[in-house]
Amino acid sequence: MELKQFTGICRESINLINLNPLQRGGLLSEEARRVAPDWIDGYSVCDFCGGCLDRIKKPPIEEFVHKALPEFLDCDVVRLTNGAREAKFAIMHSVCREGDTILMDGNAHYSSYVAAERARLKIELIENSGHPEFKINEDDYAKRIDEVKPKLVLLTYPDGNYGNLPDARRVGKICAEHDVPFLLNCAYAIGRMPISAKKTGADFIVGSGHKSMASSGPIGVLGMKKEWEDIVLRKSEKYKGKEVEVLGCGPRGFSTITLMASFPSVVERVKNWDKEVENSQYFIKSIEAIGGIKQLGVRPTEHDLNFLEAEIFYEISQKHKKKGFFLYHELKKRGIVGIKPGLTKNFKLSTYQLNKEELKKVIDSFQEISRMN
Ligand SMILES: *Cc1c(COP(=O)(O)O)cnc(C)c1O
Repeated sequence: MELKQFTGICRESINLINLNPLQRGGLLSEEARRVAPDWIDGYSVCDFCGGCLDRIKKPPIEEFVHKALPEFLDCDVVRLTNGAREAKFAIMHSVCREGDTILMDGNAHYSSYVAAERARLKIELIENSGHPEFKINEDDYAKRIDEVKPKLVLLTYPDGNYGNLPDARRVGKICAEHDVPFLLNCAYAIGRMPISAKKTGADFIVGSGHKSMASSGPIGVLGMKKEWEDIVLRKSEKYKGKEVEVLGCGPRGFSTITLMASFPSVVERVKNWDKEVENSQYFIKSIEAIGGIKQLGVRPTEHDLNFLEAEIFYEISQKHKKKGFFLYHELKKRGIVGIKPGLTKNFKLSTYQLNKEELKKVIDSFQEISRMN
């Protein structure tokens, strides 16, 4: 069977206010958009490759990977991967052996589970505190490390449901005291907020280009302490330049270019993190004032990603002919998308990089829609 010719349809979120946390940090910078057309062909960065992607000088991938990124993440060694999950898998697969145990926070992303499963690890968890905060108690790591003797510890910073930011430095200290390597998953942090691998004591730090670094993706960053280089970045026996865990080459094209082109603007935007948190807190305060909407997770929020419990929208949905889909349609009418169609009672959203006017429009829309009750 032939696939019908794809001639393009207008993307759901284009030119609308998009509240999808997954997508807000991955919007391309102007610079990336400008250079994009020259690099969209397959293997576009490989014109001057001598066999090692991170040593390509034209375009300046070498300088980016070996100087700019280690400085940005405050770690010794960096590589590009095809995503945060590929970075996590590379770490788990090289640091642990089949049947070893990994200890993760109960708010870990599904991709952390899947990566651990692929590496054939046993998974142990630190449970969160449950409704309404879903908080991870950092000190639980000490007890649980003694109990389950993990070969690797993972902390999600922040988690992708509630935007909770546990004290990574505290967990790093516990891991150091117990001599267990510490992996910090920063898919929702690197590229949004300032992060220092050294200060948190992380042995490994991973980020997502398409999640938080204004990149098309798929692309991720993997940072580590020098002492892990020979293990995680070991070379093929036959092909001396090829690193085994990335299967020889990292992201070899357009995604790398968008990550690099956006990087200077990402470095700048990270400096505005306090403002982003302020906007997020203002937003939550404003919509909670409507009544019948509450932010779950740690309060006040410390991140642009928030999880809402919206009784008021649920009540409306019970009477509305469109049922649970009414909220999606009402928002769309007002030029707002990104909340999953069908959801009313519990949903996530992000205010990342929305300007004052856009924030106001979203708040006003929530207010108007709530009056349907
Ligand atoms: C989005 C997300 C990931 C996955 O990132 P990819 O780069 O797509 O692999 C991992 N962890 C968390 C916490 C996330 O939110």
